[in-house]
Amino acid sequence: MVHIMKIHFFGAAGEVTGSCYMVETPVSKILVDCGLFQGSREADQKSHGDFDFDPATVDAVIVTHAHIDHCGRVPLLFARGFRGPVYATEPTGELIKLQWDDILHIMEERERHSNMPPSYDLNDVAHAKAAIVSLPYGKLAAITKDAGFIFHDAGHIFGSSFVELRAGGKTAVFSGDIGNDNVPIVRETEPLVACDVLITEATYGDRTHSPVVQRREDLRRVIIDAIKRGGTLMIAAFSLERTQEILFELDQLIERDHALPRIPIYLDSPLAIRANAVYRKFNSYYDEVAAAEWKRGNDFFDFPGLIVAETSAQSRLINSAPAPKIIIAGSGMLAGGRIMYHLMRYLSDPKSTLLLVSYQAEGTLGRKIQERSHSVTINGEQIPVKCFVEKIDSYSAHGDQEKLLRWMVSGSTPPGRVIVTHADAPAAQEFCSIAEKRNHVRIEAAAMGQIIEI
Ligand SMILES: [Zn+2]
Repeated sequence: MVHIMKIHFFGAAGEVTGSCYMVETPVSKILVDCGLFQGSREADQKSHGDFDFDPATVDAVIVTHAHIDHCGRVPLLFARGFRGPVYATEPTGELIKLQWDDILHIMEERERHSNMPPSYDLNDVAHAKAAIVSLPYGKLAAITKDAGFIFHDAGHIFGSSFVELRAGGKTAVFSGDIGNDNVPIVRETEPLVACDVLITEATYGDRTHSPVVQRREDLRRVIIDAIKRGGTLMIAAFSLERTQEILFELDQLIERDHALPRIPIYLDSPLAIRANAVYRKFNSYYDEVAAAEWKRGNDFFDFPGLIVAETSAQSRLINSAPAPKIIIAGSGMLAGGRIMYHLMRYLSDPKSTLLLVSYQAEGTLGRKIQERSHSVTINGEQIPVKCFVEKIDSYSAHGDQEKLLRWMVSGSTPPGRVIVTHADAPAAQEFCSIAEKRNHVRIEAAAMGQIIEI
């Protein structure tokens, strides 16, 4: 029998969210990632809808990392009859539990002011949590009698991986998301392994990031300027990863460099506080710099001036604290979370500062403010934007065009074929033509619903 591996594209084809691929062999069906579609009402509806396959027939799901566009629909698989294992690295296994709880909470909140009920419930989340099987990097694990896989470090966020999937003498690699160079705490991306086909993301396939060397100095300057203005500095950061990176940088600026005056820094994010605990638990996954800090007894999620606000009562107390003060809260694109309450209070204050450290997607409040809207509407209230707005874009956890091109040919042999996912159509096209010219690979952009055979 000729062994054919079929790969189905059920998400992140021609768009940057909803990662979901199925590898089908003569005897098994394995999913790689099962994430939420994000960014519009239509995307929400797609995330709530039925799958284009029967989850009850799937043997296993492999989760590359804890971003919700890669893991957010796993409990929905259980709601639709899936009962197999959920493979993840040890940190990812813990972080996805936090993410699922958070998504469920957000869906329940949303139900109160829309007629969209949550797509899964506490019971489905409990099933998904109980099915997690944690594996270290570099260990070959058998999934079914004809398929196995290995996690490799993708250097994107804590615990992130790219997946080497082997079946019937063929190898497919799924990139997950490939990290930027020098992401704080996280190790560098491992070289690509030899494979018949590489399914790679290209979120920034048409872009080049600012150099990272200036990053910490930029942060220091923003903070010093904000303190001089005498108001509140709001740092809008995603609770998972970006917040931990910012805390690490602040720890270094305060404890090692003594480069900042002592002012209160509030971490106003229950999810980030819980994620910090996961980072502490899996300190053996740190990169060299973070590991050395940890070894000499420096817990970089705890430094002079840092105050954590877990409960809403603790969060409300931040309001009455005198300025200057720093508040770190999510979400990074100002699409919800505790940052909204601080925006309502401080956006109209000319002495205050808003610092954006994430990419601001089209249509988000963050994008509007970044593009210097004079006023915005939050919770039905019109608020003039008078505060100072700063942006540092070198904290991206995604590799840029240069990094993706370099990684694609970082192995001993180039991949036999490359399929581009997780990119808007124009970015995917540009990336394909550059990669073809520079790396001499056979490359194409994936289409939704497409099936390739190797
Ligand atoms: Zn990601």
